[in-house]
Amino acid sequence: MEKECHKCHQFKDILEFNKMARSKDGLKTVCKKCDRCYNEERYALKKEKIISKVREWQNNNPEKVKLIKENYIKHHKNKVEILVKEIEKEKPTTSEHHID
Ligand SMILES: [Zn+2]
Repeated sequence: MEKECHKCHQFKDILEFNKMARSKDGLKTVCKKCDRCYNEERYALKKEKIISKVREWQNNNPEKVKLIKENYIKHHKNKVEILVKEIEKEKPTTSEHHID
């Protein structure tokens, strides 16, 4: 059985449509592919909105942003220091690499 997608207007097998209890035939009007695109578009839009909100908040709270950044650098520095210590532990001493 085939059904027309309301978005791409292609006839596709009903298996290509997601289920929706509220609709007449129990299936969505758009195919799975278009449904996914729609969700991705919505997600991208939502992401943009969140980013702009964050930017707005950053503009309004420069001191807080500075604090967060400083904390991040501190945290990051610690991570680097730990990593350097770990690397030094792993590193064999030069005497072990002595070649006759
Ligand atoms: Zn479609």
